[in-house]
Amino acid sequence: MTAWILAVGSELLTPFKVDTNSLAITEALNAIGYDVRRKVVLADDLQALTDWFAGAIGRTDLVVCTGGLGPTADDLTRDAVARALGRPLVPDPSILARIEARFQSRGRVMPAINARQALVPDGAIAMENTQGTAPGLWLSTEGTSFLLLPGPPREMRPLLTRAIEALIPSAHGVRLLRRVIKLTGRPESEVDAIAQPIYGPWATAALPVTTTILASLGQIELHLTATAADTTAATAVLDTSVATLCAALAPSVYSTDGRTLEVVVADLLRATRRTVATAESCTGGLLASRLTDVPGSSVYFRQGVVSYSNEAKQQYLGVPEALLAQHGAVSAPVAVAMADGIRAASGADVGLGITGIAGPDGGSAEKPVGTVVIALSSHTGTRCETFRFVGPREMVKFQSAQAALNMLRLALEGEVTP
Ligand code: AMP
Ligand code: MG
Repeated sequence: MTAWILAVGSELLTPFKVDTNSLAITEALNAIGYDVRRKVVLADDLQALTDWFAGAIGRTDLVVCTGGLGPTADDLTRDAVARALGRPLVPDPSILARIEARFQSRGRVMPAINARQALVPDGAIAMENTQGTAPGLWLSTEGTSFLLLPGPPREMRPLLTRAIEALIPSAHGVRLLRRVIKLTGRPESEVDAIAQPIYGPWATAALPVTTTILASLGQIELHLTATAADTTAATAVLDTSVATLCAALAPSVYSTDGRTLEVVVADLLRATRRTVATAESCTGGLLASRLTDVPGSSVYFRQGVVSYSNEAKQQYLGVPEALLAQHGAVSAPVAVAMADGIRAASGADVGLGITGIAGPDGGSAEKPVGTVVIALSSHTGTRCETFRFVGPREMVKFQSAQAALNMLRLALEGEVTP
């Protein structure tokens, strides 16, 4: 079965606001076997909306629309659907009563404009919105069903869940199962060269598995999907596929269960009962920030120092002045001294040191912008790697923190897997 998604709102066509609702809707629809074939963003324009809704009739099984259900004059979804389907807008007294009660419970009187939200295309089923005033609406015509949901994500999500449970028929029991393999520390071309020959033939197997590569900053994802009526068979095929790819791509794979790199590192730190401390220069604390994004991080995170100047590197980490003078702040000896220094100062099991040139200035022929040296110090010794990242300042910072987290992951994995 097919679905189209429409995001309504002129603000979604500005540089300031992005349509995120359609991602949650796609995920929910895929899970019940729908194939999302079209995704559109339209301005608050009655004619454009009416034409689009009219054009969907008979051409897809399901339309899910978000936005434009508010009380103001620029909220036109209701009117457009009514026109496209040739149904009059009729007042629904129970919706009106609910909206009035909502205002009353807050000690306010319902503004007159909110009465518009109680108008529904004739024959529509209304769904109560416990998070706001606009109800969700469900109506069908000529083989196409329309689900209209409010725009604010916190109102949209619970209504979507209820619609999936109660209104949207699942696609003949066919389900789409998805697995995600996350990797870091390897370029996309290299991952593709290894993975494609393996997964290529799967697309035409008896139970096909479709694989796509998605690269983002400092991370690559392999998405594997299988559609089947028999979820047991599809699960087994996906399990085998994931295991085959992981074996070919290890040790770059850090998760197959949706966990982020921060969470994987946090779980490893807890499992090994290790603590960590950070000494950061060019990342300005980003590594410490990401390590502490995980709830419960106080168990393993001791402290972080942002030692931006040479003086700070000497004062807080005990980096010898001579070392800085001889090798420069961005060098392996200084990164190692930072990692050793923060480990000694904090008493943590592992010390991480990052020093680099985030740019756009400060590069040289020998050490161009994007040169970053990362060291890890632990009881088993010290390891140090030099990277050359590309991109503007914030991209260099992110990739540096990512590489440091990955070094920590690899060191800890070495402790848990004999
Ligand atoms: P509306 O229901 O059109 O009045 O939308 C109300 C608010 O919800 C908008 O101002 C946006 O901030 C948010 N919103 C609407 N559509 C979306 C969308 N597709 N994705 C994310 N946020 C949205
Ligand atoms: Mg709007």
